[in-house]
Amino acid sequence: MTAHRKRVTILGSTGSIGRNALEVAEAHPGVFEIVSLSAFRNVDLLAEQAERFRVKRVGVGEGASGSGFPPDVEVVEGSEALASLASDPDVDLVVNALVGAAGLGPTMAALRSGKRVALANKESLVMAGEIATRAAEESGAELIPVDSEHSSIFRCLAGVPAAEVAGVVLTASGGPLRDVPPGDVAEADVDSVLRHPTWTMGEKVTVDSATLVNKAMEVVEARWLFGLPFERIDVVLHRESIVHSLVRLADGTMLAHLGVPDMRVPIQYAMLYPEPPDGSFGECPPEKLGALHFEPIDYDRYPCFLLVLEAAKRGGTGATIAATADEVAVDAFVGGSIRFGDIATVIEETLAAVTPGAAATVESVLDAEGRAREAAAGAVERLKVREA
Ligand code: MG
Repeated sequence: MTAHRKRVTILGSTGSIGRNALEVAEAHPGVFEIVSLSAFRNVDLLAEQAERFRVKRVGVGEGASGSGFPPDVEVVEGSEALASLASDPDVDLVVNALVGAAGLGPTMAALRSGKRVALANKESLVMAGEIATRAAEESGAELIPVDSEHSSIFRCLAGVPAAEVAGVVLTASGGPLRDVPPGDVAEADVDSVLRHPTWTMGEKVTVDSATLVNKAMEVVEARWLFGLPFERIDVVLHRESIVHSLVRLADGTMLAHLGVPDMRVPIQYAMLYPEPPDGSFGECPPEKLGALHFEPIDYDRYPCFLLVLEAAKRGGTGATIAATADEVAVDAFVGGSIRFGDIATVIEETLAAVTPGAAATVESVLDAEGRAREAAAGAVERLKVREA
């Protein structure tokens, strides 16, 4: 008897998480059927992937279809297409590895159609955590975290009675600039910001690690994934990235989940769930771990962290406005048009310019996103002129 293979779509398959997800699939022959893939720009790699995994459909950015795809592959275009791949009746598992606000629509489409979603796109929960978790409850969809911190909390919490959970502690590596003298941080160049000390990841998340916006977004993610109020979610600096997170219990003890910093470990966990993961990746002999350090975070070094987190705590579309401003600012920084230190300015000016409202519907969230994008672009333009 041939067991039913898990039918998967991987949205954002040419990025770091997407490529790792395909490696996970290849490491488990006969377990997964890759039904569809998507990429925004890297159409050449997408065509290679489509051929290698014999997919039925691919999604590409508006106007990026071109040629080069195997003749029997259906090509769909634009953001609506991603939502259709995510809600495809032929798909059991949606791996959402999209970067930025573009991930929200497909997450909602998948959750509304009752899919299991392996979620790597942080913005989905940052922008619409309440709407998304409610949609999942209503349809019976499942959200399985791919972010390493949340994956480890998810695993630590299995079997722990809710009454025993006092809170969670997210570990942060401190990012690529953690040891740069504070006076030099604002002028850090793109190359040094993209050199992460412990993790190999995509550009956006690596820059977000340097500003700690990544960790602020992870606090918001944890708030929705685990239903915890903000005051029960803490962050600690942990340089080695071996302890992925801690769960604080009512009696003051803690549960930790340890592993090498390899994104294939949480991706494999999410993709195989609820079947148990195997030893394909991430062997972690304790005698090789060495010393593990935990320190409080110096928030003065990371002004963006509190900007984003405080905006999220105020509720409504505040988190959307902050996350969108960050997305625009990171793009501008990587593209060479603003300094690293200007990312905080763009977020601050956008938060001052755009009034948050209720985040009651996806439409209201997307409206706030649009206004934030415009305000952030304006802030980038002003900074360019000031610095010219
Ligand atoms: Mg993370």
